[in-house]
Amino acid sequence: MLLVQKYRHYSKNYIVYPFIIILKALRGVLVVVFCLFVLGFLIPEPRGIPVQGASSADWNPKSFWFEPWGSSGVHKGLDIFAKKGTRVLAPTSLLIIYRRVLTKGGNVALGLGPKWRLHYFAHMDRVFVAGGVFVGRGDELGTVGNSGNARGKPAHLHYSIFSLLPMPWRIDSSTQGKLKAFYINPLTYLKAID
Ligand SMILES: [Zn+2]
Repeated sequence: MLLVQKYRHYSKNYIVYPFIIILKALRGVLVVVFCLFVLGFLIPEPRGIPVQGASSADWNPKSFWFEPWGSSGVHKGLDIFAKKGTRVLAPTSLLIIYRRVLTKGGNVALGLGPKWRLHYFAHMDRVFVAGGVFVGRGDELGTVGNSGNARGKPAHLHYSIFSLLPMPWRIDSSTQGKLKAFYINPLTYLKAID
């Protein structure tokens, strides 16, 4: 009703009036989207290695963007080797989006973390979380395994971090270098290198 009064002077123009109402409504949606966007950056982001007891001896520092890497071309994550059954722990606060069984990834879980980053865990033996669940850093997600296309290979956790917000300044001339605008090196993220 207030809107009607406010824009009464437009009422003679039946094309402009609804258009303004729509714009006004859209502005509300944009404000909500913007607030959610900002909120994603305000959530604290504790960081921990996602495999219990793992250290730099359990991965190859060149794991990220290693090539050639089968049908994927380059390896867009970090492989953390551990005994089958070792606990996989949430590296940060996550809203679990889904758990699935994939041909390549095997038993996987995907979570949304602070700063609009997706955290992907693959080749697990068992998965303990389900979609829609919130977990904190250190909460158990599952156990290390060799499911999917890691079958027959040493058990390890494949860990990838994907930023929903592109970071074009990270693009370089490497193979599929454009995708570095989205994929974050987990070692950089964990401050385990650099
Ligand atoms: Zn991997």
